[in-house]
Amino acid sequence: MLKWIDVIRFASTGNPIPDKKVVKTNEEWHTLLTPEEFRITRLKGTERAHSSEMCSLFEPGKYACVCCGTLLFDANEKFESGTGWPSFTQPVTENAIAYHKDISYGMVRVETLCNTCDAHLGHVFPDGPGPGGLRYCMNAVALKKVESNERKATFGGGCFWCTEAVFNQLKGVTKVESGYSGGKIANPTYREICSGLTGHAEVIEVTYNPDEITYDDLLRIHLSTHNPTTLNRQGADVGTQYRSVIFYRDEAEKKAAEQAIAEIQSAYDEPIVTEVAPLEYFYKAEEYHQDYYSNNSEEGYCQVVIDPKLRKFRELFKNKLKDTKEGELK
Ligand SMILES: [Zn+2]
Repeated sequence: MLKWIDVIRFASTGNPIPDKKVVKTNEEWHTLLTPEEFRITRLKGTERAHSSEMCSLFEPGKYACVCCGTLLFDANEKFESGTGWPSFTQPVTENAIAYHKDISYGMVRVETLCNTCDAHLGHVFPDGPGPGGLRYCMNAVALKKVESNERKATFGGGCFWCTEAVFNQLKGVTKVESGYSGGKIANPTYREICSGLTGHAEVIEVTYNPDEITYDDLLRIHLSTHNPTTLNRQGADVGTQYRSVIFYRDEAEKKAAEQAIAEIQSAYDEPIVTEVAPLEYFYKAEEYHQDYYSNNSEEGYCQVVIDPKLRKFRELFKNKLKDTKEGELK
């Protein structure tokens, strides 16, 4: 994750190397862009605030450079800044954007450009939301939305270090984030949810491509990789934050969840107690919880608790796994 210190470093000592470079003359750009796109991206213009509907657009998808089509931002990182320009907290990759010190209009600012074709995009400021604290303030004209058929699913099955490690291994799963859902307060911290008083469950938000793995697959994998028959408990972890839960996004997901539970019940002696509840909000957990297993696989908890779970899971769902070397757990 980029922070302000990285932005300053890029702007003063040189930008990250892009995957490729696209170079065209202004005449060539003229023929490819509308006059407004040309004015903003090639002549470093600024569009009027609140001039684009893109500000209030938050559906899943990605945003690409209007000039060269390079992916720059993910809708996951988009937030309502109230400025009237589309705002993001992070670029899609660390080398997507180039940074230049800009001293125009008597201000010292950091200009952002497409690192592939040098299109002017806007500026970046250090007053964005946590944890990165950045606000990429973009001209909507410089971006184009790229539709995506990716979907999200939210499951709780005990400690999210374990469930995240499992789902990260699946083909068709593009991202897994650990967080909190189903509680009473906004933006809870780990310490707060651990008290059990906020009502949040430790959950993972799985981003997946339904052409490669279906919601039904994810449900079956979820219900067979934790113990769905122990109320508010997974092994030694006890408390409502460890409850077994499926948060659905629509009626179809609710039905699918109930059906999956009914089907898998025969595999368990005890009744399944998994809660099926509507998703209200997913709060991403603190950064040190993300990718916990990959970052801490030498630690005791990972070796004692997560490694055996992953072994069992890999055996059960061999044909659903991403291509990694046999027996490799990361
Ligand atoms: Zn570009």
